Amino acid sequence: MNAELIAVGSELLMGQIANTDAQYITSRLSSLGVNVHYHTVVGDNRSRLTDALKIAFSRCECVILTGGLGPTYDDMTKETVASFFNLPLSYDQRALNELTEYFKKRNRIMTESNKKQALLPDDSVVLYNEYGTAPGCIIEKNGKIAAMLPGPPREMRPMFDKYLCPYFKEKTDLVVYSEYLHLFGIGEADAEAKISHLTKSENPTVAPYVSIGEMVLRISASAATEKEAALLTGKMKNEIYSVLGEWIYAEGRSSTLPSTVLKLLTDKKLTFAAAESCTGGMVSSAITDLPGSSEVFLYGAVTYANSAKMSALSVSAETLKKHGAVSEETAIEMARGARLAAKCDIGVSTTGIAGPGGGTPEKPVGTVYIAISTKKGDRALKLFLPGDRARVRKTAVLNVYDLIRRTILSGNY
Ligand code: ATP
Ligand code: MG
Repeated sequence: MNAELIAVGSELLMGQIANTDAQYITSRLSSLGVNVHYHTVVGDNRSRLTDALKIAFSRCECVILTGGLGPTYDDMTKETVASFFNLPLSYDQRALNELTEYFKKRNRIMTESNKKQALLPDDSVVLYNEYGTAPGCIIEKNGKIAAMLPGPPREMRPMFDKYLCPYFKEKTDLVVYSEYLHLFGIGEADAEAKISHLTKSENPTVAPYVSIGEMVLRISASAATEKEAALLTGKMKNEIYSVLGEWIYAEGRSSTLPSTVLKLLTDKKLTFAAAESCTGGMVSSAITDLPGSSEVFLYGAVTYANSAKMSALSVSAETLKKHGAVSEETAIEMARGARLAAKCDIGVSTTGIAGPGGGTPEKPVGTVYIAISTKKGDRALKLFLPGDRARVRKTAVLNVYDLIRRTILSGNY
Protein backbone atom coordinates (compact mmCIF):
# COMPACT_ATOMS: atom_id res chain seq x y z
CA MET A 1 0.00 0.00 0.00
CA ASN A 2 1.24 3.52 -0.82
CA ALA A 3 0.68 6.40 1.53
CA GLU A 4 1.09 10.15 1.74
CA LEU A 5 1.36 12.10 4.96
CA ILE A 6 -0.28 15.49 5.24
CA ALA A 7 0.70 17.55 8.26
CA VAL A 8 -1.77 20.37 8.81
CA GLY A 9 -0.61 23.48 10.64
CA SER A 10 0.56 26.97 9.72
CA GLU A 11 3.13 26.83 12.54
CA LEU A 12 4.89 24.05 10.61
CA LEU A 13 5.12 26.25 7.52
CA MET A 14 6.46 29.15 9.52
CA GLY A 15 9.28 27.09 10.98
CA GLN A 16 8.01 27.35 14.55
CA ILE A 17 7.93 23.59 14.96
CA ALA A 18 9.49 20.70 13.08
CA ASN A 19 7.33 18.02 11.51
CA THR A 20 8.37 15.29 13.92
CA ASP A 21 4.98 13.59 13.55
CA ALA A 22 5.89 12.72 9.96
CA GLN A 23 9.21 11.30 11.03
CA TYR A 24 7.57 9.11 13.67
CA ILE A 25 4.79 7.86 11.43
CA THR A 26 7.12 7.15 8.51
CA SER A 27 9.51 5.13 10.62
CA ARG A 28 6.58 3.05 11.90
CA LEU A 29 4.93 2.57 8.51
CA SER A 30 8.02 1.23 6.80
CA SER A 31 7.94 -1.84 9.03
CA LEU A 32 4.21 -2.29 8.46
CA GLY A 33 4.53 -2.77 4.72
CA VAL A 34 3.15 0.68 3.88
CA ASN A 35 5.32 2.68 1.50
CA VAL A 36 5.34 6.39 2.21
CA HIS A 37 5.77 8.17 -1.10
CA TYR A 38 5.17 11.79 -0.14
CA HIS A 39 5.23 14.15 2.87
CA THR A 40 3.11 17.26 2.48
CA VAL A 41 2.75 20.18 4.86
CA VAL A 42 -0.17 22.55 4.47
CA GLY A 43 -1.34 25.53 6.52
CA ASP A 44 -4.63 25.80 8.39
CA ASN A 45 -6.59 26.68 5.29
CA ARG A 46 -9.59 24.80 3.93
CA SER A 47 -9.11 25.34 0.23
CA ARG A 48 -5.39 24.56 0.30
CA LEU A 49 -6.01 21.42 2.36
CA THR A 50 -8.67 20.36 -0.17
CA ASP A 51 -6.14 20.84 -2.98
CA ALA A 52 -3.57 18.83 -1.04
CA LEU A 53 -6.11 16.00 -0.58
CA LYS A 54 -6.92 15.95 -4.29
CA ILE A 55 -3.25 15.71 -5.20
CA ALA A 56 -2.52 13.11 -2.53
CA PHE A 57 -5.36 10.82 -3.57
CA SER A 58 -4.39 11.14 -7.22
CA ARG A 59 -1.15 9.32 -6.38
CA CYS A 60 -1.72 7.27 -3.20
CA GLU A 61 -4.51 5.13 -1.81
CA CYS A 62 -3.92 6.12 1.79
CA VAL A 63 -3.49 9.57 3.34
CA ILE A 64 -2.59 10.09 6.98
CA LEU A 65 -3.29 13.56 8.34
CA THR A 66 -1.97 15.03 11.56
CA GLY A 67 -3.10 18.21 13.32
CA GLY A 68 -6.10 20.45 13.14
CA LEU A 69 -8.47 18.24 15.13
CA GLY A 70 -8.73 20.53 18.13
CA PRO A 71 -11.49 22.91 19.22
CA THR A 72 -10.31 26.20 17.76
CA TYR A 73 -11.47 27.95 14.61
CA ASP A 74 -8.28 27.13 12.71
CA ASP A 75 -8.71 23.41 13.45
CA MET A 76 -10.65 22.26 10.40
CA THR A 77 -9.08 18.97 9.26
CA LYS A 78 -12.10 16.74 9.97
CA GLU A 79 -14.54 19.18 8.36
CA THR A 80 -12.41 19.51 5.23
CA VAL A 81 -11.72 15.80 4.81
CA ALA A 82 -15.39 14.93 5.46
CA SER A 83 -16.53 17.36 2.80
CA PHE A 84 -13.90 15.98 0.40
CA PHE A 85 -15.58 12.58 0.85
CA ASN A 86 -19.10 14.10 0.83
CA LEU A 87 -19.75 12.82 4.33
CA PRO A 88 -21.81 14.77 6.85
CA LEU A 89 -20.57 15.20 10.43
CA SER A 90 -22.58 14.05 13.42
CA TYR A 91 -21.94 13.88 17.13
CA ASP A 92 -20.39 10.64 18.28
CA GLN A 93 -22.02 9.82 21.60
CA ARG A 94 -19.02 8.14 23.20
CA ALA A 95 -16.68 10.97 22.17
CA LEU A 96 -19.18 13.47 23.56
CA ASN A 97 -19.44 11.56 26.85
CA GLU A 98 -15.66 11.37 27.16
CA LEU A 99 -15.32 15.10 26.49
CA THR A 100 -18.01 15.94 29.06
CA GLU A 101 -16.26 13.72 31.57
CA TYR A 102 -12.89 15.32 30.76
CA PHE A 103 -14.17 18.83 31.50
CA LYS A 104 -16.15 17.74 34.56
CA LYS A 105 -13.09 16.10 36.10
CA ARG A 106 -11.11 19.29 35.68
CA ASN A 107 -13.92 21.57 36.84
CA ARG A 108 -13.93 23.34 33.51
CA ILE A 109 -16.85 24.44 31.40
CA MET A 110 -17.27 22.74 28.05
CA THR A 111 -17.92 25.34 25.36
CA GLU A 112 -19.59 24.79 21.98
CA SER A 113 -16.18 24.85 20.31
CA ASN A 114 -14.92 22.15 22.69
CA LYS A 115 -18.02 20.13 21.86
CA LYS A 116 -17.18 20.38 18.16
CA GLN A 117 -14.37 17.88 18.72
CA ALA A 118 -16.99 15.12 19.12
CA LEU A 119 -18.34 15.87 15.62
CA LEU A 120 -17.10 13.07 13.40
CA PRO A 121 -17.66 12.08 9.77
CA ASP A 122 -20.51 9.57 9.35
CA ASP A 123 -19.33 5.99 8.80
CA SER A 124 -15.84 6.76 10.06
CA VAL A 125 -14.00 4.59 12.57
CA VAL A 126 -13.51 6.78 15.65
CA LEU A 127 -10.08 6.71 17.32
CA TYR A 128 -10.84 7.70 20.91
CA ASN A 129 -8.17 9.83 22.51
CA GLU A 130 -7.08 8.85 26.03
CA TYR A 131 -4.22 11.32 25.93
CA GLY A 132 -6.02 14.56 25.10
CA THR A 133 -9.41 15.81 23.99
CA ALA A 134 -9.54 15.52 20.18
CA PRO A 135 -10.47 12.08 18.84
CA GLY A 136 -9.09 10.96 15.51
CA CYS A 137 -10.86 8.90 12.86
CA ILE A 138 -10.45 6.75 9.78
CA ILE A 139 -12.57 7.14 6.66
CA GLU A 140 -12.60 4.37 4.08
CA LYS A 141 -14.49 5.18 0.92
CA ASN A 142 -14.18 4.32 -2.78
CA GLY A 143 -10.88 2.52 -2.26
CA LYS A 144 -9.40 5.50 -0.48
CA ILE A 145 -8.31 5.67 3.15
CA ALA A 146 -7.95 8.87 5.16
CA ALA A 147 -6.70 8.56 8.74
CA MET A 148 -6.68 11.61 10.99
CA LEU A 149 -4.68 12.01 14.20
CA PRO A 150 -4.21 14.96 16.55
CA GLY A 151 -1.04 17.03 16.09
CA PRO A 152 0.59 17.01 19.55
CA PRO A 153 3.19 14.21 19.49
CA ARG A 154 2.35 13.02 23.00
CA GLU A 155 -1.19 12.29 21.78
CA MET A 156 -0.39 11.29 18.20
CA ARG A 157 2.31 8.70 19.01
CA PRO A 158 0.39 6.47 21.42
CA MET A 159 -2.71 6.75 19.23
CA PHE A 160 -0.76 5.73 16.15
CA ASP A 161 0.64 2.71 17.99
CA LYS A 162 -2.69 1.74 19.51
CA TYR A 163 -4.95 2.15 16.48
CA LEU A 164 -3.08 2.56 13.23
CA CYS A 165 -0.39 -0.10 13.73
CA PRO A 166 -2.90 -2.93 14.06
CA TYR A 167 -5.09 -1.34 11.37
CA PHE A 168 -2.31 -1.35 8.77
CA LYS A 169 -1.04 -4.75 9.89
CA GLU A 170 -4.42 -6.17 8.98
CA LYS A 171 -4.64 -4.26 5.69
CA THR A 172 -1.28 -5.30 4.33
CA ASP A 173 -0.45 -8.93 3.85
CA LEU A 174 3.27 -8.19 3.83
CA VAL A 175 5.64 -7.95 6.74
CA VAL A 176 8.69 -5.77 6.41
CA TYR A 177 11.78 -6.83 8.30
CA SER A 178 14.89 -4.67 8.60
CA GLU A 179 18.44 -5.23 9.74
CA TYR A 180 21.14 -2.64 10.31
CA LEU A 181 24.88 -2.83 9.73
CA HIS A 182 27.11 -0.14 11.24
CA LEU A 183 30.36 0.71 9.47
CA PHE A 184 33.31 2.81 10.44
CA GLY A 185 36.46 3.79 8.62
CA ILE A 186 35.17 3.69 5.06
CA GLY A 187 33.66 6.57 3.09
CA GLU A 188 30.15 6.41 1.73
CA ALA A 189 31.18 6.52 -1.91
CA ASP A 190 33.78 3.81 -1.39
CA ALA A 191 31.35 1.56 0.42
CA GLU A 192 28.62 2.08 -2.17
CA ALA A 193 31.01 1.34 -5.01
CA LYS A 194 31.97 -1.94 -3.37
CA ILE A 195 28.36 -3.06 -3.06
CA SER A 196 26.91 -1.44 -6.19
CA HIS A 197 25.90 -4.91 -7.43
CA LEU A 198 23.78 -5.31 -4.27
CA THR A 199 22.18 -1.88 -3.92
CA LYS A 200 20.18 -2.41 -7.12
CA SER A 201 18.23 -5.20 -5.41
CA GLU A 202 14.54 -4.43 -4.87
CA ASN A 203 13.77 -7.04 -2.24
CA PRO A 204 15.61 -6.76 0.02
CA THR A 205 16.58 -3.14 -0.45
CA VAL A 206 19.88 -1.81 0.84
CA ALA A 207 19.85 1.83 1.90
CA PRO A 208 22.82 3.78 3.30
CA TYR A 209 22.55 6.50 5.97
CA VAL A 210 25.55 8.62 6.75
CA SER A 211 26.29 10.59 9.89
CA ILE A 212 29.55 12.18 11.05
CA GLY A 213 32.29 9.62 10.46
CA GLU A 214 29.91 6.70 10.38
CA MET A 215 27.64 4.88 8.02
CA VAL A 216 24.66 2.61 8.52
CA LEU A 217 23.31 0.20 5.93
CA ARG A 218 19.67 -0.72 6.36
CA ILE A 219 18.61 -3.96 4.73
CA SER A 220 14.82 -4.29 4.42
CA ALA A 221 12.89 -7.19 3.01
CA SER A 222 9.16 -7.75 2.66
CA ALA A 223 7.54 -11.17 2.66
CA ALA A 224 4.44 -12.96 3.88
CA THR A 225 6.02 -13.73 7.25
CA GLU A 226 8.79 -12.23 9.32
CA LYS A 227 10.70 -15.50 9.06
CA GLU A 228 10.71 -15.39 5.27
CA ALA A 229 11.70 -11.73 5.25
CA ALA A 230 14.51 -12.44 7.72
CA LEU A 231 15.83 -15.16 5.41
CA LEU A 232 16.08 -12.61 2.61
CA THR A 233 17.83 -9.99 4.77
CA GLY A 234 20.15 -12.66 6.20
CA LYS A 235 21.29 -13.67 2.73
CA MET A 236 21.94 -10.07 1.77
CA LYS A 237 23.74 -9.46 5.05
CA ASN A 238 26.16 -12.29 4.30
CA GLU A 239 26.89 -10.86 0.88
CA ILE A 240 27.60 -7.45 2.36
CA TYR A 241 29.84 -8.97 5.03
CA SER A 242 31.88 -10.72 2.36
CA VAL A 243 32.75 -7.33 0.83
CA LEU A 244 32.58 -4.86 3.72
CA GLY A 245 33.07 -7.12 6.76
CA GLU A 246 36.34 -5.42 7.66
CA TRP A 247 34.51 -2.14 8.37
CA ILE A 248 31.34 -3.48 9.97
CA TYR A 249 31.53 -3.03 13.71
CA ALA A 250 28.00 -3.82 14.83
CA GLU A 251 24.49 -4.85 13.93
CA GLY A 252 21.20 -3.64 15.39
CA ARG A 253 19.24 -0.44 15.06
CA SER A 254 20.82 1.64 17.80
CA SER A 255 24.39 0.34 18.06
CA THR A 256 27.25 2.84 18.32
CA LEU A 257 31.02 2.47 18.45
CA PRO A 258 31.19 3.33 22.19
CA SER A 259 28.40 0.85 23.00
CA THR A 260 30.13 -1.84 20.94
CA VAL A 261 33.41 -1.21 22.76
CA LEU A 262 31.63 -1.23 26.13
CA LYS A 263 30.26 -4.66 25.34
CA LEU A 264 33.61 -5.99 24.15
CA LEU A 265 35.40 -4.69 27.25
CA THR A 266 32.72 -6.05 29.56
CA ASP A 267 32.77 -9.47 27.90
CA LYS A 268 36.55 -9.67 28.15
CA LYS A 269 36.62 -8.11 31.64
CA LEU A 270 39.00 -5.38 30.49
CA THR A 271 39.33 -1.83 31.79
CA PHE A 272 40.51 1.37 30.14
CA ALA A 273 41.48 4.97 30.79
CA ALA A 274 41.63 8.01 28.53
CA ALA A 275 44.02 10.95 28.37
CA GLU A 276 42.56 13.69 26.22
CA SER A 277 43.84 16.88 24.78
CA CYS A 278 41.97 18.10 21.67
CA THR A 279 38.80 16.09 22.50
CA GLY A 280 38.57 17.75 25.94
CA GLY A 281 36.75 14.91 27.68
CA MET A 282 34.58 13.71 24.82
CA VAL A 283 36.11 10.22 24.85
CA SER A 284 35.30 9.91 28.55
CA SER A 285 31.88 11.40 28.07
CA ALA A 286 30.99 9.00 25.24
CA ILE A 287 31.53 5.98 27.46
CA THR A 288 30.07 7.44 30.66
CA ASP A 289 26.90 8.25 28.72
CA LEU A 290 26.27 4.51 28.72
CA PRO A 291 24.92 2.55 31.67
CA GLY A 292 27.38 -0.08 32.82
CA SER A 293 30.46 1.97 31.92
CA SER A 294 31.76 1.98 35.50
CA GLU A 295 32.73 -1.67 35.04
CA VAL A 296 35.18 -0.81 32.28
CA PHE A 297 36.10 2.87 32.45
CA LEU A 298 38.39 3.83 35.31
CA TYR A 299 39.96 7.19 34.58
CA GLY A 300 39.73 10.16 32.27
CA ALA A 301 42.12 13.12 32.26
CA VAL A 302 41.74 16.28 30.20
CA THR A 303 45.33 17.43 29.89
CA TYR A 304 45.20 20.49 27.69
CA ALA A 305 48.38 22.23 28.82
CA ASN A 306 51.83 20.71 28.52
CA SER A 307 52.24 21.09 32.27
CA ALA A 308 49.14 18.93 32.81
CA LYS A 309 50.43 16.30 30.39
CA MET A 310 53.62 16.15 32.43
CA SER A 311 52.15 16.21 35.93
CA ALA A 312 49.13 13.93 35.41
CA LEU A 313 50.51 11.55 32.80
CA SER A 314 54.26 11.76 33.21
CA VAL A 315 54.80 12.86 29.62
CA SER A 316 58.46 13.88 29.51
CA ALA A 317 59.53 17.48 29.00
CA GLU A 318 62.03 16.29 26.45
CA THR A 319 59.37 14.60 24.31
CA LEU A 320 57.22 17.71 24.36
CA LYS A 321 60.18 19.90 23.46
CA LYS A 322 61.55 17.65 20.75
CA HIS A 323 58.34 16.50 19.06
CA GLY A 324 55.68 18.94 20.25
CA ALA A 325 52.39 18.29 22.04
CA VAL A 326 50.78 17.17 18.79
CA SER A 327 52.94 14.21 17.92
CA GLU A 328 53.05 10.46 17.86
CA GLU A 329 55.53 10.39 20.74
CA THR A 330 53.39 12.59 23.01
CA ALA A 331 50.24 10.63 22.15
CA ILE A 332 51.94 7.38 23.13
CA GLU A 333 53.26 8.78 26.40
CA MET A 334 49.82 10.14 27.21
CA ALA A 335 48.14 6.78 26.57
CA ARG A 336 50.74 4.94 28.58
CA GLY A 337 50.53 7.53 31.36
CA ALA A 338 46.76 7.08 31.58
CA ARG A 339 47.07 3.30 31.67
CA LEU A 340 49.67 3.37 34.43
CA ALA A 341 47.91 6.06 36.45
CA ALA A 342 44.67 4.07 36.39
CA LYS A 343 46.34 0.65 36.67
CA CYS A 344 44.11 -0.65 33.91
CA ASP A 345 44.45 -2.81 30.80
CA ILE A 346 44.18 -0.17 28.10
CA GLY A 347 45.12 3.50 27.91
CA VAL A 348 44.09 5.72 25.01
CA SER A 349 44.87 9.29 24.11
CA THR A 350 44.09 12.14 21.73
CA THR A 351 46.20 15.13 20.82
CA GLY A 352 45.63 17.24 17.74
CA ILE A 353 44.71 20.49 16.07
CA ALA A 354 40.94 20.86 15.96
CA GLY A 355 41.06 24.36 14.44
CA PRO A 356 40.11 26.79 13.16
CA GLY A 357 43.48 28.26 14.28
CA GLY A 358 46.72 26.57 15.25
CA GLY A 359 47.50 24.77 12.01
CA THR A 360 50.96 24.80 10.42
CA PRO A 361 52.11 23.50 7.02
CA GLU A 362 53.52 20.38 8.72
CA LYS A 363 50.54 19.93 11.02
CA PRO A 364 47.48 21.42 9.37
CA VAL A 365 44.10 21.76 11.11
CA GLY A 366 42.58 18.29 11.39
CA THR A 367 45.89 16.59 12.27
CA VAL A 368 45.15 14.35 15.24
CA TYR A 369 47.29 11.68 16.84
CA ILE A 370 45.54 8.99 18.78
CA ALA A 371 47.33 6.26 20.67
CA ILE A 372 46.66 3.08 22.56
CA SER A 373 48.79 1.49 25.22
CA THR A 374 48.46 -2.06 26.54
CA LYS A 375 50.76 -4.46 28.36
CA LYS A 376 51.74 -5.82 24.94
CA GLY A 377 52.90 -2.48 23.59
CA ASP A 378 51.97 1.00 22.42
CA ARG A 379 50.74 2.20 19.08
CA ALA A 380 49.84 5.59 17.62
CA LEU A 381 47.88 6.59 14.54
CA LYS A 382 48.19 9.85 12.67
CA LEU A 383 44.82 11.02 11.34
CA PHE A 384 43.89 13.81 8.94
CA LEU A 385 40.30 14.58 9.84
CA PRO A 386 38.24 16.83 7.58
CA GLY A 387 35.70 19.44 8.65
CA ASP A 388 35.23 22.08 11.30
CA ARG A 389 36.28 21.94 14.94
CA ALA A 390 33.20 19.98 16.08
CA ARG A 391 33.57 17.44 13.32
CA VAL A 392 37.31 16.94 13.87
CA ARG A 393 36.73 16.32 17.57
CA LYS A 394 33.77 13.98 17.05
CA THR A 395 35.60 11.93 14.43
CA ALA A 396 38.70 11.74 16.63
CA VAL A 397 36.56 10.21 19.40
CA LEU A 398 35.11 7.61 17.03
CA ASN A 399 38.60 6.73 15.81
CA VAL A 400 39.70 6.15 19.40
CA TYR A 401 36.83 3.72 19.96
CA ASP A 402 37.56 1.98 16.69
CA LEU A 403 41.21 1.64 17.72
CA ILE A 404 40.18 0.06 21.04
CA ARG A 405 37.81 -2.26 19.20
CA ARG A 406 40.41 -3.40 16.69
CA THR A 407 43.04 -3.85 19.38
CA ILE A 408 40.75 -6.08 21.43
CA LEU A 409 39.70 -8.11 18.40
CA SER A 410 43.32 -8.67 17.39
CA GLY A 411 44.17 -9.84 20.92
CA ASN A 412 46.91 -7.23 21.40
CA TYR A 413 46.23 -6.44 25.04
P1 ATP B 1 -5.06 20.36 19.76
O1 ATP B 1 -6.25 19.68 20.28
O2 ATP B 1 -3.89 20.35 20.74
O3 ATP B 1 -5.32 21.71 19.15
P2 ATP B 1 -4.67 19.53 17.02
O4 ATP B 1 -4.87 18.18 16.44
O5 ATP B 1 -5.63 20.58 16.66
O6 ATP B 1 -4.54 19.37 18.58
P3 ATP B 1 -2.75 21.37 16.10
O7 ATP B 1 -3.59 22.45 16.67
O8 ATP B 1 -2.58 21.31 14.64
O9 ATP B 1 -3.23 19.95 16.61
O10 ATP B 1 -1.32 21.37 16.77
C1 ATP B 1 -1.18 21.46 18.16
C2 ATP B 1 0.28 21.35 18.54
O11 ATP B 1 0.78 20.04 18.24
C3 ATP B 1 1.21 22.25 17.74
O12 ATP B 1 1.30 23.52 18.25
C4 ATP B 1 2.52 21.51 17.85
O13 ATP B 1 3.15 21.77 19.08
C5 ATP B 1 2.08 20.06 17.79
N1 ATP B 1 2.13 19.56 16.40
C6 ATP B 1 1.17 19.70 15.46
N2 ATP B 1 1.52 19.12 14.30
C7 ATP B 1 2.76 18.60 14.50
C8 ATP B 1 3.68 17.87 13.68
N3 ATP B 1 3.38 17.55 12.42
N4 ATP B 1 4.85 17.50 14.21
C9 ATP B 1 5.15 17.82 15.50
N5 ATP B 1 4.33 18.50 16.32
C10 ATP B 1 3.14 18.88 15.84
MG1 MG C 1 -5.33 22.77 17.42
